[in-house]
Amino acid sequence: MKDTIPISFLVLILILVPFLGCNNVHGSKSHHYRNSQVSSTRDIYSDSILKYIKYNYPTLALMHVNVVDGTGAVLKEDQTIVIKHGLFEAIGGPTEIKVPRNAKILDLKGKTIIPGIVGMHNHLHIPRFPDVGDVAAKLYLASGVTTIQTCGAASPNNEIALSNTIEKGMQIGPDIIPSAPFITGKGGNPNMIIPRNEKHLRDTMQHYINQGIKWFKVYRNTNPDDLKVIIDEAHKNNCKVRGHLCSITFEEATKWGIDGIEHGLNSTSDFRTDKTYGICNGGREYMDELIIENPKVKALQQLIIDNDVFLTSTLSIYEASIPNRAYADERTLKAMSPFLLNEYKERRDNFDKSIKDTIRNNRLKRIMQFEYQYYKMGGLLCAGVDAGRYVLPGFGDQRNYELLIEAGFSTPEAIQIMTGNGAKALERSNIGTIQEGKRANFVILNGSLEKDPTIIEKVETVFKNGVGYDPDSILETIEGQFAKE
Ligand SMILES: [Zn+2]
Repeated sequence: MKDTIPISFLVLILILVPFLGCNNVHGSKSHHYRNSQVSSTRDIYSDSILKYIKYNYPTLALMHVNVVDGTGAVLKEDQTIVIKHGLFEAIGGPTEIKVPRNAKILDLKGKTIIPGIVGMHNHLHIPRFPDVGDVAAKLYLASGVTTIQTCGAASPNNEIALSNTIEKGMQIGPDIIPSAPFITGKGGNPNMIIPRNEKHLRDTMQHYINQGIKWFKVYRNTNPDDLKVIIDEAHKNNCKVRGHLCSITFEEATKWGIDGIEHGLNSTSDFRTDKTYGICNGGREYMDELIIENPKVKALQQLIIDNDVFLTSTLSIYEASIPNRAYADERTLKAMSPFLLNEYKERRDNFDKSIKDTIRNNRLKRIMQFEYQYYKMGGLLCAGVDAGRYVLPGFGDQRNYELLIEAGFSTPEAIQIMTGNGAKALERSNIGTIQEGKRANFVILNGSLEKDPTIIEKVETVFKNGVGYDPDSILETIEGQFAKE
């Protein structure tokens, strides 16, 4: 085997040579070649990636653009932004910023830029499909999602592998922060980790920690004593624990030191009247009478905030369970596999029979109110797609934005939830906002996002580390491909 290494290395060089010093990926004259030598790894892409790249220049200048920067600050009009070697170098008004002579200039008048979306509940699996990573990664990137935390893995090894392949520039997709498999308890999903005893639990966690995993997720049926062990083992190893809770209340998990809570109001069992300690009772009827402004709700939220626990909003997947709302759009229908399409049609037929059922509509309103109040009280609210049903990776993240606007958030607030806050929860200070010194992960949207929230779907270009990807050419390649049997 040894002597094959130099040969394969030679082959690699031969493959790469045509691309060295050549960034004109579309072959159009308007894209200037860079004559300089390769200056960083991001200049080395395989052919399969080059076809998606629209802009790859060492220096870029965005002119006349509206910026929602992800910090929560108001939208700034007519900004000039200089990007150098994948980082934001200078940002300011048209007279404040000097544009370098060698910069590739993009005139973005009438357009909006936002930071790359940081998807905080962005699985690489969906129900019945344990690995949709390849297509999901494309959907995420094409939709403006440049970083994801997968919040529980169904195929952990594939997740780690995909994360590495993307990092090396061999495949397109968001930066992936992978997870260990879900940990649940007795009566929980048998495909997940069900701890046999404390040693088994700690050893299993170590197995994933040794592979570089930093994120653990507990799911619904977790035993209270197990959660305490999970948090202990995770924190000792500089790792984080997130929970889709049910057997354990938000209050208990918060007091025991959990780092993040998923889904918000629709997974709290704190307000149940029939709660048994350590048992997941299921059902959501407790929500129907709950008044969100009630002091007991506020006290719980204050406790969560005081303990620095972040909350992740997943509105779009909840919406997918509401008969008079659960409609897939054109592009979603195009991307879905025949299997998913059929499933969608069957579900729609059933929904049409119960179209006047308003229970879930009212629950959605309360879920929104809960999140709005938590944010306004100073809580760290993030968002993620939790893909499933017809809610696709990326498209569902965009839908979350529209639902956050419906929940009452302003444009800068909703963008902050989807970008800067996710970065904060991930403790990644180099992404999430459009600020000098940060990585140039951002999305060009074709229109005024403040005037029309659906502009979030009009992605013109997605930049990751200063390299611009063309969403249309990405989406073309995945038609009918999502969740293929
Ligand atoms: Zn989930």
